[in-house]
Amino acid sequence: MDSHDVQADLKHVLYDREQIQRRIAELAAEIDRDYAGRDLLIVGVLKGAVMVMADLARELHSHVTMDWMAVSSYGSGTQSSGVVRILKDLDSDLMGKHVLIVEDIIDSGLTLSWLKTNLESRGPASVEICAAFRKPDAAKVKIDVKYVGFDIPNEFVVGYGLDYAEKYRNLDFVGTLAPHVYE
Ligand code: IMP
Ligand code: MG
Repeated sequence: MDSHDVQADLKHVLYDREQIQRRIAELAAEIDRDYAGRDLLIVGVLKGAVMVMADLARELHSHVTMDWMAVSSYGSGTQSSGVVRILKDLDSDLMGKHVLIVEDIIDSGLTLSWLKTNLESRGPASVEICAAFRKPDAAKVKIDVKYVGFDIPNEFVVGYGLDYAEKYRNLDFVGTLAPHVYE
């Protein structure tokens, strides 16, 4: 879907398809450079990271293996608590591997902070994080994110994998919704 398909629901477009693609290609070039000569496993966090995983993986010029995890963060409403439950674990053993976690967005950072510690306990050679978007709140938790697509304002955004009530994940851009959608 593009912005015309959801015009009535849309407040504004934050980043369009071309801007996202260009930035993902830049991140891929950095990742290629940083992991040259090493085997890399990229781990996508379902469901939001599906788009960024697909685009990032195709922009890379090196072989990678891909795996997926699904987690859910216990919390009240939209606030994540930092207590995370694994809904789907990795198929792969991480022992000795270079791992790059790929996420859609970092908000409080609590989910990723928990996930990074969890993966680090499995004996990998390294664990780094790549997130397509990051909100300023992420600064409240000490979390080292090696690759960030865009730092965005502290508003709720949808598209490019990000949902509101499971909708809007298939927008080819990232934008904010009009208030009437929430009310
Ligand atoms: P954190 O633990 O607060 O960093 O939670 C991050 C997760 O919350 C992301 O993986 C998203 O699933 C979700 N999330 C945070 N901000 C947004 C947003 O603006 N739109 C859609 N989902 C969001
Ligand atoms: Mg997510």
